[in-house]
Amino acid sequence: MKLSHTPEEEKFASEVRAWLDEALPEDKRHTYSALEHSDKEVMLWWSQKLAEKGWLVRHWPTEYGGTGWTLAQHHLFNKELQSAGAPSTSGFGTVMVGPVIYTFGNEEQKKRFLPGIQNGTELWCQGYSEPGSGSDLASLKTRAVREGDHYVVNGQKIWTTQAHWADRIFCLVRTNTEVKAQEGISFLLIDMDTPGIEVRPIVSIDGLHHLNEVYFTDVKVPVENLIGEENKGWTYAKFLLGNERTATANASATRQRLERLKVMAKSKTSFSDPMIEDASFAKRLAETETKLTALEITEARSIDADDASFDAVKLSLPLKYLGTNLQQEIAEMCVELVGYAGLPREFEDAAPRSTNEPSLFEKAPGLMESHLFGRAATIYGGTSEVQKNIMAKMVLQL
Ligand SMILES: Cc1cc2nc3c(=O)[nH]c(=O)nc-3n(C[C@H](O)[C@H](O)[C@H](O)COP(=O)(O)OP(=O)(O)OC[C@H]3O[C@@H](n4cnc5c(N)ncnc54)[C@H](O)[C@@H]3O)c2cc1C
Repeated sequence: MKLSHTPEEEKFASEVRAWLDEALPEDKRHTYSALEHSDKEVMLWWSQKLAEKGWLVRHWPTEYGGTGWTLAQHHLFNKELQSAGAPSTSGFGTVMVGPVIYTFGNEEQKKRFLPGIQNGTELWCQGYSEPGSGSDLASLKTRAVREGDHYVVNGQKIWTTQAHWADRIFCLVRTNTEVKAQEGISFLLIDMDTPGIEVRPIVSIDGLHHLNEVYFTDVKVPVENLIGEENKGWTYAKFLLGNERTATANASATRQRLERLKVMAKSKTSFSDPMIEDASFAKRLAETETKLTALEITEARSIDADDASFDAVKLSLPLKYLGTNLQQEIAEMCVELVGYAGLPREFEDAAPRSTNEPSLFEKAPGLMESHLFGRAATIYGGTSEVQKNIMAKMVLQL
């Protein structure tokens, strides 16, 4: 296991910093929100900027436009992105469906679907969950029936993040009802403008619209859009979930948020002394930092482990579980710390202000929304309870 970086790696990080200084104007950097709520236009602009540099699908194999970087370089790159406050990009194409397409798709599908992901011009969404089929995903009921050279899809997906922005959806559908649940699922790629698709918004606890219900009524999908073999979709779905879970831990983003929390804890406000002077708050902060350091070491171990090894798979489970719990702890402490100033945006103007210490309040808008929406981190991509079940069976052999 390696905890320090080589001079070459340090040089790489400084080159990335220099590029970010130039490519990312101040007004596009985020400074306050604990979990960023992306804006579609900014997301597309930044994706395309990274793509022009060859850094959007950086983790893909080089034959599909990847950088060929070492894992340490990927780690450093992510850290620099976080430090710079770079806007987020959508992982539905780059992290999730892209690797499924180049691993299991045919040549025609690669030609048709990969370029829009590689150049950051097309957005995807994930049609997995249904009412009643979340943790028990294999029970999904959305039906696809083959009729000639089309499938006809009927059913409903739910919690579909960014479906209202997406150009396409990757969808798990039931193609056989006669066999064991996992053996009758197929993986379809569907254009969102196909007749019969209806997207209805779900406004989440932060008062914002990220999520949707997606209804399919007699939606005709060409058979060419089937990934791999019919009824083998569960294999591709699990492959995708592995990538999704590893990406959710994101220790470098959490480090960035903790560093910001420390700055805020040292600020004096008009109604209190710096919170760092409060012994119980300081103790919580120290405990949180210790846990984060342990997470970073675990991440470094997983970076050092051979990709396909049992260690890499084993470590991805606590990484998702501990990583998302830490994200929530830090967001909660931010909200406690800023008091009034963390109230939702419409209350911003009512927050007490003092000309002497504007910095704390300038950082505050959006923190409450982020804290509330951040509760979802231990749910999406597989709940904490489900991660613990898998750890118990797979790692502890219970
Ligand atoms: C913000 C957000 C964004 C999302 N985005 C998407 C998306 O883009 N696309 C998509 O397809 N899905 C998305 N999801 C859905 C997400 O994948 C599901 O919410 C998740 O899998 C849990 O399923 P569920 O909500 O049906 O909860 P349930 O499965 O009903 O679980 C309810 C509770 O029971 C517990 N539980 C369930 N089974 C067990 C068990 N065997 N042992 C112990 N405890 C158990 C769970 O841990 C949970 O606490 C999103 C969810 C959220 C919150």
